[in-house]
Amino acid sequence: MQYCGFEAYEKSITTIESFTIFMANHRDETVIILVSKEAGQSTAPLGFTAAVLGDGKFLAPLTHENAQALRKLFPFTAPVRGLSKDRSFGAGDRLGIATPGHIRVFEGYDIFPVFAQQSIRELNLTNRTYEDVLDAATFAVFREGFKKGFGADGDHLKTVKDVEYALSLGFSMITLDCSDHIKNGVTPDNAAPPPASYRDKYLNKTFDIGEGITLVFGEEELKQSLAVYGEAIDFAADIYRRFFKHGTYKADFEISIDETVSTTTPLQHFFVARELLDAGVSFATLAPRFCGEFQKGIDYKGDLARFEQEIRVHAAIARRLGYKLSIHSGSDKFSVFPAIGRETQGVFHIKTAGTNWLEAMRVAALADPPLYREVHRYALSVFNEASRYYHVTPELSAIPDVYTLKDEDLPGLFENNDARQLIHITYGLILSKKNADGSYTFKDRLYKLWKDHEGVYSDALVKHIGKHIALLGVRKG
Ligand SMILES: [Zn+2]
Repeated sequence: MQYCGFEAYEKSITTIESFTIFMANHRDETVIILVSKEAGQSTAPLGFTAAVLGDGKFLAPLTHENAQALRKLFPFTAPVRGLSKDRSFGAGDRLGIATPGHIRVFEGYDIFPVFAQQSIRELNLTNRTYEDVLDAATFAVFREGFKKGFGADGDHLKTVKDVEYALSLGFSMITLDCSDHIKNGVTPDNAAPPPASYRDKYLNKTFDIGEGITLVFGEEELKQSLAVYGEAIDFAADIYRRFFKHGTYKADFEISIDETVSTTTPLQHFFVARELLDAGVSFATLAPRFCGEFQKGIDYKGDLARFEQEIRVHAAIARRLGYKLSIHSGSDKFSVFPAIGRETQGVFHIKTAGTNWLEAMRVAALADPPLYREVHRYALSVFNEASRYYHVTPELSAIPDVYTLKDEDLPGLFENNDARQLIHITYGLILSKKNADGSYTFKDRLYKLWKDHEGVYSDALVKHIGKHIALLGVRKG
């Protein structure tokens, strides 16, 4: 809409003190405009760094400093803890453009959104920083006037330094990736015998989880639980003591043991959680590695009946011990969502990321077929390199040739699992590819396309993420 001579985002128009503040598109750029009601104001107001436009008007670019000013002035634009709510959903946005679409989704459902959620791996592959990730969410929330609250997750952090980095910026959630401390390949044969204290605590004891579920540790199970997870438990306890125990930082703490080759059995899950709690570690969520495969960007692969049986026990353990189950790589796991919603009794955290990027690329295939073909051809050429970072198993030969497909059939590639995985894991290489002269080969053209087709992307997210949430059994409202 036209407002004060600018093409303004209507939902952002806010009055504070003697100023009106709003976001606007100005000469092809999104900016913050401040308008003073009092004549004669000539310095940038309210903590913003802004250029003077005259007539009491100021233009503040979307910088980190101005994002900080917004967060200070409007608390709803800063992340808050929300994992204690029954339902929460991580909507990782690798491009920094998905939040307006996500806001439309989350306005309609009773579920807490985590709009800013990136791992260090994703930051490195996209050349972004946690400042960028958080600021993109802040600007989108302000622009759309979203006041229900959102979280920011420093996802899959593995080091003290990275945890501190995210917390110091105000991230409201830390997902601690314990995988470097999980001893894969330990079997009951090569594991050391557990010390007497563990034997007394666990061996042949019956743990009543409630709901008719009991757990019993035999010699081998105890030996293996301790050998595989012992060091990871110590690591998580150390991080907790450093950052949270004394209230230095307040953030939702998630324990992740999923990014490893060892499937977490319900018995191992119980062991890890029990040991953490007994060590005084308080956590909001725990992410086991479930049976079967949660590959990126495609549906669940594996024995559905076994998954349903195991998640029932995992969910009962989490209920009994007082935290939520967190389901990672939740993009597109449509066949298991109903079981997750049912067995957790609607109490869960779920994370998605890649699917939001794939929807952006679906928009590219729809809006600019020649550009999409170029990107796709490049993705094929770098697949081997990209597969170093992600475990996926697409059959590249099963992907139709984009140069023989008709324009209108290109978006259909995003119904093809092999094509989905190809595009899913090559995002970093696609976005960082440069020409000989140093300019980006695809990145700038793609971002321009997404800006020009913002409504199409937003509609796609409403449909696609909405489908995730509906299948999880979340009610509207
Ligand atoms: Zn994970």
